[in-house]
Amino acid sequence: MLKQHLIDPEICIRCNTCEATCPIGAITHDANNYVVDPGTCNFCMDCVAPCPTGSIDNWFMVAEPFDLDAQFSWQELPPRPADGPTELADAMDDEAAALLAEAHARAGGRARAPATASKPRINLFNRDNPAIATVTGNVRITARDAESDVRHLILDFATVPFPVLEGQSIGILPPGTGANGAPHAMRLYSIASARDGERPNTNNLALTVKRVREIRENGIFAGVASNYLCDLELGDKVRVVGPFGATFLMPDDSDADIVMICTGTGAAPFRGFTERRRRTSTAARGRLLMFFGARTPAELPYFGPLQKVPRTVLDQELVYSRMPGHAREYVQDRMRARAADVAALLRKPTTHVYICGLRGLEDGVEAAFADITRQYGIDWPNLRASMLADGRYHAETY
Ligand code: FAD
Repeated sequence: MLKQHLIDPEICIRCNTCEATCPIGAITHDANNYVVDPGTCNFCMDCVAPCPTGSIDNWFMVAEPFDLDAQFSWQELPPRPADGPTELADAMDDEAAALLAEAHARAGGRARAPATASKPRINLFNRDNPAIATVTGNVRITARDAESDVRHLILDFATVPFPVLEGQSIGILPPGTGANGAPHAMRLYSIASARDGERPNTNNLALTVKRVREIRENGIFAGVASNYLCDLELGDKVRVVGPFGATFLMPDDSDADIVMICTGTGAAPFRGFTERRRRTSTAARGRLLMFFGARTPAELPYFGPLQKVPRTVLDQELVYSRMPGHAREYVQDRMRARAADVAALLRKPTTHVYICGLRGLEDGVEAAFADITRQYGIDWPNLRASMLADGRYHAETY
């Protein structure tokens, strides 16, 4: 199969920006359409960010590329190949594709975006052409005496368009090179703010970054990107690539019920979901139910701010595994304690499940879903399969 870059004739406004931007003359037009020459396009992505409509952002896997005559004749794009657009979209940037594939693998099945999710813009900036963001916030969001240092970072893009959706990630390029002399690998970070910015209508976004303890072993330095980010000062510049991710997206439907299960920095996308719901759907009928696990309240990112989110917006279960004098409790235990609510939500066709955090989280969560559904007479293997097919069941762990 070959990757082919196409322009959506239904959305394109024929402004000529793409043709003027393309450095190798791969884009041409006639009276009907703007088209991409499959024999010339080298996927440099230079045309993608400037396109004002997003019509340029289409990637098909094809056995035989559509030639120019075919593209000139279109009134609309042909049907997507059965492979589906989402995996292809994720796959555009090889580094990000590998990380996302790994992060999504444990949900099993082919990842799909929720049917109502907005169309994400992806791969607008790459390693050769990163966006430069300015740090406008860096605040510790675990208690001062907590073992884990988790930071809330705000990156501002000034006048550079960097459109994102809740659930997407960005790539950070740490400066410098590794032991082998090659530039450091890109690291992905979930966006922790809503699509319209950390504050509404600002061109910035937030990240939730945990400082990974620096370890030097055999010349290999672990913690490169997270220490770089956690140590950034206001005004520092950061090289950003992406955005990435076309499946782990928030449904754009205020009737959608969303069950969010997370530990640690896995809360990042759910902060974005919650903010989006809070800003757009005050009369939303869909519920947000979150199970959030940490060792103690001091170790739980955003503990203070979460206390202020009304239960009408977010039904939250904060669960602690190392509270002195208390038995250890994990998110899956609290899910079982709320089995009736979880089962009622699972029965609804409007319910979406998202799991995010460190690897291994899914096993306990899956076991809890299996127990709860057994208790309430729901066929979990079937339901899970259909939720996956509908883009209503997602896991992103790293
Ligand atoms: P490296 O030198 O790469 O060392 C990696 C070590 O850190 C490994 O042992 C790994 O298991 C461990 N590790 C990785 N992430 C964490 C973590 N969050 N907590 C504890 N240990 C960890 N990280 C975030 O802090 N916030 C996010 O929102 C976030 N979102 C991600 C989204 C996706 C889709 C993916 C694939 C990863 C995400 N990560 C996130 C992890 C992030 O990309 C880096 O792996 C992490 O910051 C470590 O990079 P590093 O260079 O500091 O450490």
